[in-house]
Amino acid sequence: MPDKHTYRADNIFAKILRGEIPCHKVYEDEHALAFMDIMPQAEGHTLVIPKQNAMNLFDMPEDRWGPYMQCVQKVARAVKAGMNSEGLLIQQFNGSAAGQTVFHLHFHLIPRWEGVPLRRHTGEMEKPAVLAANAERIRAAL
Ligand code: 5GP
Repeated sequence: MPDKHTYRADNIFAKILRGEIPCHKVYEDEHALAFMDIMPQAEGHTLVIPKQNAMNLFDMPEDRWGPYMQCVQKVARAVKAGMNSEGLLIQQFNGSAAGQTVFHLHFHLIPRWEGVPLRRHTGEMEKPAVLAANAERIRAAL
């Protein structure tokens, strides 16, 4: 998909924010929404998006980072604790050349365990029951 040069309100995450597409929600406040990645690279792979319309890191207003990153940290702690992971990988892509496929800013929170390989980015779709169970584990750790 070519890079967009302006934010588009028809991107998938904007639709999730507006409630037009369902998600397995983990956390929401006035600044951000966290939900399960539908094609997880590991068990418990969670996305945190700002409510601010921003395509990527470069597009996010400087004064909006504080509350958003506080939410990223809060959810990251819950993902690690809820999934009982040994480590946590945080990824954030800017532009299609860097691997970005959805043009609404997001951080990937990906639990890691020694010896468990990372699955492919945007690979296999996960079963809804598995996403629901992992979301519940993470919510319980918030
Ligand atoms: P990006 O490639 O832009 O960094 O990440 C986009 C992520 O969104 C991918 O990991 C992909 O699996 C995930 N994704 C794509 N479409 C949907 C969707 O409709 N719902 C959810 N929950 N995740 C999605």
